[in-house]
Amino acid sequence: RLIAATPVSQQEEAIERALRPKQLDEYVGQEKIRGQLEIFITAARQRQEALDHTLLFGPPGLGKTTLAHIIAREMGVNLRQTSGPVLERAGDLAALLTNLEANDVLFIDEIHRLSPVVEEILYPALEDYQIDIMIGEGPAARSVKLDLQPFTLVGATTRAGMLTNPLRDRFGIVARLEFYTADELTRIVTRSAALLNAPIQEDGAREIANRARGTPRIANRLLRRVRDYAEVKGNGEITKAIADAALRMLDVDQAGFDLMDRKLLEAILFKFGGGPVGLDNVAAAIGEERDTIEDVLEPYLIQQGYLQRTPRGRIATALAYQHFGVAMPAS
Ligand code: ADP
Repeated sequence: RLIAATPVSQQEEAIERALRPKQLDEYVGQEKIRGQLEIFITAARQRQEALDHTLLFGPPGLGKTTLAHIIAREMGVNLRQTSGPVLERAGDLAALLTNLEANDVLFIDEIHRLSPVVEEILYPALEDYQIDIMIGEGPAARSVKLDLQPFTLVGATTRAGMLTNPLRDRFGIVARLEFYTADELTRIVTRSAALLNAPIQEDGAREIANRARGTPRIANRLLRRVRDYAEVKGNGEITKAIADAALRMLDVDQAGFDLMDRKLLEAILFKFGGGPVGLDNVAAAIGEERDTIEDVLEPYLIQQGYLQRTPRGRIATALAYQHFGVAMPAS
């Protein structure tokens, strides 16, 4: 997949880091979350306390990791980063927690994938800044309480619905990230182009923004591919025409859909008569994982009104028929 929504290599990650806004006022869009965080961070700083535990949720590439780093920076504390699947044993988490300094941020990506034993350790840590760990085995085993420094857990997840209730209840701040508007993405593309020293015209930036699936990570990735195209096929400047030609070459269509988006919609339209069709059938038809379909592909198609999730399954809307230039069957 050319335009994957998650970073695909270390080099990618390095570029992402370079393009990442470092302060809240550089963070484009998400006005509501930004406004709230500004107040909560200022208040916590004034009281010299840790910020409340914060849950960030939304599709990949919308800026959850970026926001976690910004929170730590604005709080003036360290950030330690890990992810749900990486924390296999209780001891892995205990080691991280006992190394935190006062008011530090612990960022756990994919927090819905924590194992139950690790989650057990987390509850008292979040509530009372304490952990219970078992020392020894068999009849000699005993539980020891350790005090922790106050800290902030920032959890990120693509689906808040996948969290267990007791875990979700322990977050004082819950923020849902939204897809970005074309204006916001145009600002992000323009800023990134400046950081990459790539000359770009306003309508060139807008063309990329319009076709980036509402997602900053995709906008930045498309920008880099369009820059290559501009350097080889043009004089280096990114114009609207250059952006359009490059995006066509990448199989990103006018609506910003890539091959996988179209494969998904086409399967529902032409293999399953427009639906309703269950997720498992769709997954088998296009050879894609259920999770990827639910977390990466569907949210944008639903938000844009091409697809609906109903209790009976997925349904393609009139817009989807229009997109492929076919008439919607009369029902
Ligand atoms: P997530 O953790 O949600 O998958 P990231 O925080 O890694 O997403 O963001 C992906 C990339 O998109 C980052 O490299 C960053 O440059 C860019 N980005 C995300 N959100 C914003 C934003 N609000 N303003 C500017 N750039 C952003």
